Amino acid sequence: EPRYNITVIGAPGVGKSALSLQFLYQEFVEDYEPTKVDSYQTYVRHERSDVNVQITDTAGQEDYASVRDTFLRNGEGFLCVFSLTDTDSFSHVQELYSQVKLSKGSAPPHLPFLLVGNKCDVEASRQISLSAAVQLARNLGVPYIETSAKTNFNVTEAFLGLTKMVVNS
Ligand code: GDP
Ligand code: MG
Repeated sequence: EPRYNITVIGAPGVGKSALSLQFLYQEFVEDYEPTKVDSYQTYVRHERSDVNVQITDTAGQEDYASVRDTFLRNGEGFLCVFSLTDTDSFSHVQELYSQVKLSKGSAPPHLPFLLVGNKCDVEASRQISLSAAVQLARNLGVPYIETSAKTNFNVTEAFLGLTKMVVNS
């Protein structure tokens, strides 16, 4: 049976682990070890069948070019996360996008890539407006979704949406 790899990328602290664990276990894990890289197997419902998906939650190793390149090359779909409360993480998206494009040798729409603005529950300290995020997504030619790993808002939608893109790519 085919297995699809979804790789979760983004600056430190944006909620990559919290999103992955919320999707997998319906639980908000507030203090997951920030340097821990993990890989999970799961099944995702897609068009009346269960698709085998491997979720790779990356961390820290972005600093090591060769390690990073291995992760990016193994990824078939990318959940690119920034935090709506962290402008640096938003600025980092363009660079991540370029790295993925370079590693994969392809680009959206042929390359499954979903831009995710996480922590939408903390509306009071939002730094990135919806329109700024939508504009960036449009420039990159990728879809955009806002999520909260804390309240489980749009988390399933994000992973399911990306799985659909990978299966259909
Ligand atoms: P990672 O480094 O990208 O894996 O980020 P983590 O998943 O470890 O999350 C970093 C911090 O942000 C932790 O303190 C989490 O509790 C918090 N966090 C993650 N997602 C959310 C969210 O959707 N809302 C809020 N309010 N906090 C979040
Ligand atoms: Mg993490």
